[in-house]
Amino acid sequence: MKPYKNKKVIFDLDKTIWNCFDKHKNEIWAKQLVPPFKLESSGNVVDDVGNFCQLRSDVGYFVSEVNSRGIEISFLSVGARLNLPMEFQPSYLLLKKFGLLNFFQGDNKLLYKTARKINFLSDDIFYIFIDDSESVLSDLELKQNVLAIDAKNITTWMGLIKKVDNVLNKID
Ligand SMILES: [Mg+2]
Repeated sequence: MKPYKNKKVIFDLDKTIWNCFDKHKNEIWAKQLVPPFKLESSGNVVDDVGNFCQLRSDVGYFVSEVNSRGIEISFLSVGARLNLPMEFQPSYLLLKKFGLLNFFQGDNKLLYKTARKINFLSDDIFYIFIDDSESVLSDLELKQNVLAIDAKNITTWMGLIKKVDNVLNKID
């Protein structure tokens, strides 16, 4: 395998690391949440009008394990609200509330839904890219330097860390 300059893990957010709902439990996007947010004892984050967001179980473990291996972590999401600086974006505030923001030290991007994620990758970096979107996943299949993981197939994030280790050891 050709040597890469670096290895990175990229996360989609909506329906990959979390699921958000309105107060009637209909699925919504994180960008629809209304700050301020509150972390409840259930582990859910609730917004100002009763919408809530559930982090998938063991995502925190997974992210901290990847971080402890010295691998750069970032998010690349199409869940941006128009004309809002990053520090006010609902997705950013959610990561903060879930206590995960500090792990995301990479080149984080919140894009608008028309953006194509594949355009934000470079060829000399090896990526593990976790996303639930079929169009993103099929785009990523074209790239030799990307291991795309379909978030819909993740049964345990604890199990996924082993897969990540196996792949990254082969890249070295
Ligand atoms: Mg998604």
